[in-house]
Amino acid sequence: MKKTTFVTKELAEKIASEYPTPFYLYDEAGIRANAKAVKEAFAWNPGFKEYFAVKANPNPFLMNIMHEYGIGSDCSSMTELMLSDACGITGTEIMFSSNETPAEEYAYACKLGAIINLDDITHIDFCEKACGGKLPETMSCRFNPGGKFMLSNGIMDDPGDAKYGMTRDQMFEAYRTLMDKGVKHFGIHAFLASNTVTNDYYAQLAGQLFDLAIELHRETGADIRFINLSGGVGVAYSPDQTPNDITAIGEGVHRVYDEKLVPAGMGDIAIYTEMGRFMMAEYGVLVTRAIHEKHTYKEYIGVDACAVNLMRPAMYGSYHHITVLGKEDAPCDHVYDVVGSLCENNDKFAIDRSLPEIETGDLLVIHDAGAHGYSMGYNYNGKLKCAEILLGSDGEAKLIRRAETPADYFSTLDCFDIYDKLK
Ligand SMILES: *Cc1c(COP(=O)(O)O)cnc(C)c1O
Repeated sequence: MKKTTFVTKELAEKIASEYPTPFYLYDEAGIRANAKAVKEAFAWNPGFKEYFAVKANPNPFLMNIMHEYGIGSDCSSMTELMLSDACGITGTEIMFSSNETPAEEYAYACKLGAIINLDDITHIDFCEKACGGKLPETMSCRFNPGGKFMLSNGIMDDPGDAKYGMTRDQMFEAYRTLMDKGVKHFGIHAFLASNTVTNDYYAQLAGQLFDLAIELHRETGADIRFINLSGGVGVAYSPDQTPNDITAIGEGVHRVYDEKLVPAGMGDIAIYTEMGRFMMAEYGVLVTRAIHEKHTYKEYIGVDACAVNLMRPAMYGSYHHITVLGKEDAPCDHVYDVVGSLCENNDKFAIDRSLPEIETGDLLVIHDAGAHGYSMGYNYNGKLKCAEILLGSDGEAKLIRRAETPADYFSTLDCFDIYDKLK
């Protein structure tokens, strides 16, 4: 499918005249339409709730937009908890799905009344102690069945090799122990495959978790209130992929729910999700300008963004589609490596990519950067993080995070004499 973008050259140039490139640009209308579609896809389940994975994009403006659709927060750290609470997304609107969790983070999650999702059986005592000797009334445990996660068309992922979650036996033991400690209501969570581009992932996962819920309830008497299908619903980064259809995904889960939970007398269980990528990836782009061209053993286009702004290509070799603004319909008759300025040879947004002829000064849009994009950024080479801008449903561009300045970068040196010279 041909990939298009929500921003035109004129608009991008206009924004760039106020906020220098590179910058992130988010599409409010797209975020809203998608949030609404997710809500409708699971409307058959009265208790349904999406907990947006804050790590995918911890921007309070975007979290607030999604909150209007009843979307809560899935947090995994102290600062994500703080951010959610500050947005007014608190109490049971927070799912705390962390791992290797420090005691003070459990304590804070408890204080906020968040739902705590335990990654390991040894965390029961650890969390109880951190929460002042009393566990919350509702808790969840994360399941890892081991082995490979298979769909009919092959292996999707490798849970047996993942650090997360409890074994099957540990799940039974954990629910018994938690009940002994006074926990009254339970959830079950699992995240078994990442960035799935198939409408079957959630249904397949739900089937496994529903079977487990029925058995857990039968053998331990635990009152299971929700099944958390977590994240893992992907987006079509590459034009040759078929995008997921959230309506079909919701219907798939509904079918398995009616097949398994309803006959077991457990037809009041709520479905929760913790999607990050699916909620935001498509609705954020990184806008960058071509500032150099280099002709050596290959053809290079040097841009003013680098892996500090978007790490996925460098870290995972991920494909991100690129549009040269104003040349949307030009023939892709040039082959380039599109590269950033880090002193690291993996700082490449595209390798051997067929694109229209690029001239210095052209604006490039790097697609599908709205999730695990800005948030994964770092400061290598002393490069600074860029601004984030929201393109409102009204067509107005609004700054929702300013670019870092050298003063931000040096601020943690404030305990040294040199700081005065850097300020
Ligand atoms: C990363 C993560 C998510 C979100 O995953 P996506 O692939 O972005 O949907 C959800 N839950 C947990 C526990 C995670 O670690």
